Amino acid sequence: MAMQSINPVNGKIIRTYKEDTQKALVQKIESAEKAWQRWRTTSYEKRAQHLLKAASLLRQQENELVKLMALEMGKPLKDGAAEIEKCALACEYYAKNGAAFLKDEVIKTDARKSFVTFQPIGVVLAVMPWNFPYWQCFRFIAPALMAGNVGLLKHASNVPGCALSIEQLLLKAGFPKGVFQTLLIGSKTVNKVIAHPLVKAVTLTGSTEAGMRVAEQAGALIKKTVLELGGSDPYVILEDADLEQAATVCAESRLINNGQSCIAAKRFIVVKKVEKEFVRLFKEKMSHKKLGDPLDAQTELGPMSRADLRDQLHRQVLENIKAGATCILGGAIPGFKGAHAFYTPTILTGIKKGMTGYEEELFGPVACVITARNEAHAIAIANDTVFGLGAAVFTKDIAKGERIAREALQAGSCFVNGLVKSDPRVPFGGIKQSGYGRELGSFGIKEFVNIKTVWR
Ligand code: NAP
Repeated sequence: MAMQSINPVNGKIIRTYKEDTQKALVQKIESAEKAWQRWRTTSYEKRAQHLLKAASLLRQQENELVKLMALEMGKPLKDGAAEIEKCALACEYYAKNGAAFLKDEVIKTDARKSFVTFQPIGVVLAVMPWNFPYWQCFRFIAPALMAGNVGLLKHASNVPGCALSIEQLLLKAGFPKGVFQTLLIGSKTVNKVIAHPLVKAVTLTGSTEAGMRVAEQAGALIKKTVLELGGSDPYVILEDADLEQAATVCAESRLINNGQSCIAAKRFIVVKKVEKEFVRLFKEKMSHKKLGDPLDAQTELGPMSRADLRDQLHRQVLENIKAGATCILGGAIPGFKGAHAFYTPTILTGIKKGMTGYEEELFGPVACVITARNEAHAIAIANDTVFGLGAAVFTKDIAKGERIAREALQAGSCFVNGLVKSDPRVPFGGIKQSGYGRELGSFGIKEFVNIKTVWR
């Protein structure tokens, strides 16, 4: 079977890659286990050195990596550069803090000595999406390798070039052969990897549907999973919000990575009294982004990553309109030449329970505005979802905002007057159908370790 990377600007094939055969796949898994037997005994200092080297290589190779992302999945150059820098920061963060996070914890008991030690578990499979082709991988790689595990990457089928470049970069950074390998396989072959006895755990970032399939199989085999899945983040705009600021942040968040981010703002829940003014400002902010070729430095919004995903998004928009929503911006496939994947920023108002925009994730530049009677109603709508990844609240009363973020909003990350973002220093993950487990921070590095008690 062959794998192709296709330029979403024009539908042209960039390169065709041969998928790994069954034999090659097994060899890679065995080679990972062999590498682990040595890697687990290396010192934290050694692992940190390689991570620091990886950070410096990421910065050195930025132009090349950014171009690859632009070609394979349509990310504009400026956004690509920010993504690469974030990967470098995550490597540096775990190089600096990993050893302290994994330090033995002595616990007083009736033993002469009792303590907890954090031991690596072995080969971990990472199934990753295309939307942040480097960041999603590095936020797994940095803590997992620092903890002494080894990684196998099954990246999304449309970004094989990015996937291979990560393996090459890590080898160049000094990580021994086998410590991190890219598998060139489609999603149908993932079950074979999970089933292999040498594979101890799986982390998946992707859709809820893919998470369910992977968790089902891994669960049956009692293999640990971390799942970072879909989201439909609510941004709640209260009566006392600074509407200019809220509209700016909301538009920025909705258009992050052309709307293709799990933690992009997706549902805008506005208290009725301020809805008209908020929508006016929001429309203004959503309207002025420059759409174009991601390789052009002036471009702010590239195409979506695949034409089929754009078509699916457009279908969701039409479903909402048919069900009674009003499209006040966009809602159309631009008439550019070729088999492109562009979509214009879109705003739908009058979204109500039962409509696609209320119930499902819209993974592209489409904003759904929902009217709430008051604060309590707005919070109830925010939580009325199967998802629970991120959420934000806008109010001038910071204490009230903090209380709502802490107690009322049901999500893994809640922000006050700001957009939901991930940061290597704080944990990231979801609740409900947005997944479980945490990446990043001190919590992330403890997901794939044996939290072992020693008593003597
Ligand atoms: P996707 O279709 O679920 O793909 C993600 C990865 O899972 C790809 O490598 C894909 O391989 C693989 N996959 C798909 N179905 C699978 C199955 N049944 N068994 C095993 N592996 C399978 O998701 P996507 O369209 O690339 O990404 C968008 C989704 O990811 C959105 O829902 C978004 O919210 C979510 N996401 C979540 C986070 C987070 O941190 N929570 C971050 C980014 C994205 P193929 O490419 O070969 O199909």
